[in-house]
Amino acid sequence: KLHNTILELKGNIRVFCRVRPLLPDDGGRQEPSVIAYPTSTESLGRGIDVVQSGNKHPFTFDKVFDHGASQEEVFFEISQLVQSALDGYKVCIFAYGQTGSGKTYTMMGRPEAPEQKGLIPRSLEQIFKTSQSLSAKGWKYKMQVSMLEIYNESIRDLLSANRTIAIESVRADSNTSGRQYTITHDVNGNTHVSDLTIVDVCSIGQISSLLQQAAQSRSVGKTHMNEQSSRSHFVFTLRISGVNESTEQQVQGVLNLIDLAGSERLSRSGATGERLKETQAINKSLSALSDVIFALAKKEDHVPFRNSKLTYLLQPCLGGDSKTLMFVNISPDPSSTGESLCSLRFAARVN
Ligand code: ADP
Ligand code: MG
Repeated sequence: KLHNTILELKGNIRVFCRVRPLLPDDGGRQEPSVIAYPTSTESLGRGIDVVQSGNKHPFTFDKVFDHGASQEEVFFEISQLVQSALDGYKVCIFAYGQTGSGKTYTMMGRPEAPEQKGLIPRSLEQIFKTSQSLSAKGWKYKMQVSMLEIYNESIRDLLSANRTIAIESVRADSNTSGRQYTITHDVNGNTHVSDLTIVDVCSIGQISSLLQQAAQSRSVGKTHMNEQSSRSHFVFTLRISGVNESTEQQVQGVLNLIDLAGSERLSRSGATGERLKETQAINKSLSALSDVIFALAKKEDHVPFRNSKLTYLLQPCLGGDSKTLMFVNISPDPSSTGESLCSLRFAARVN
């Protein structure tokens, strides 16, 4: 009883699963409740089982990384996809999973420890390195970065210089800056978010400090608003315009790297009030994302992009010949078995 049977070629949507190691803080028996295959000798396979009350639930994905997979090994498997943004493709890479399952570790990692850097810094390093080597062939690139979060269906600019001050004065108002960021798509398939800060970047060092600024912006919100960073979607966008000075060829690529809000269900977080509203907004936008990817994978005529801010924002980067990769992050902690099953079922649906 495989949930998702044989994998056919599904166009441009891929699903990778990553199981984090057991951590000292994971309570209970120190025995993982999920088993990724193959184990121990290789950290990369295709299958994963979840054992719940003696029942085994098997799943298969495009790739499954077990607890032993290093950041480098994970990046190795996506570097081609990252590269395609330089060739003019629109790329989205998502991290999905419950809070504590390793989404931020996968996306950002621990930037202070070089071998633990996640796929955002690694992707940017690769893109800059490659763009420099392509300059010998006449290519000139312009790169622009924006970073935002979507919290309770409103957009927040993480690179706005005014943001910190705005939070101090407005506090728990859900639209902190008082601005309404509106999303529009132009005829060329480019997305515009009104008032959003877009920074021209020309070095890795510059992006690193922007990432730090964004992290700071998020954590300022966090102290006032209940660990808000795990309750919001984080969207990093790199726009790449390339022009070849000898052939006059042009490319426009986009790389979106998205650390999604925690997928945990209502019952477990025991939500009331603000928390309930947050959880409903998260559930709504995650199921909207699932519906969109599902409709795209099935090549349906109607794709419900407008059902959430996130899918509407990413619309031009999800359809057409764009490329999408979803990481489903899994905690091996036995107390998370129910959530792990939910996450894998979510991923199996879009896979
Ligand atoms: P999430 O963003 O999904 O809430 P985190 O990325 O913050 O989860 O991970 C939770 C904890 O587990 C963090 O302390 C993180 O450093 C650690 N962790 C996650 N994945 C790994 C991994 N593959 N190897 C080592 N530690 C990990
Ligand atoms: Mg996180």
